Amino acid sequence: MAKFRLNDDKELVAKIREGLKATGGYCPCRLQHTPENLCICKEFKEQLEDPDFHGSCHCGLYVKD
Ligand code: SF4
Repeated sequence: MAKFRLNDDKELVAKIREGLKATGGYCPCRLQHTPENLCICKEFKEQLEDPDFHGSCHCGLYVKD
């Protein structure tokens, strides 16, 4: 899996982490509590595998440079 890091925006990171705590680990930016939406979600895992993808996950918690 490609390397990724936390977003530099500490406020955003804190907010998303609060959301993750509230949902029990499901993506706070998505309504469906399904296995593919458990953080790290399927979408971001696929983006990590994609050599052409650079940017943040849907919520912005993580960044792939
Ligand atoms: S990786 Fe990002 S978009 Fe995916 S579940 Fe975690 S916070 Fe949400």
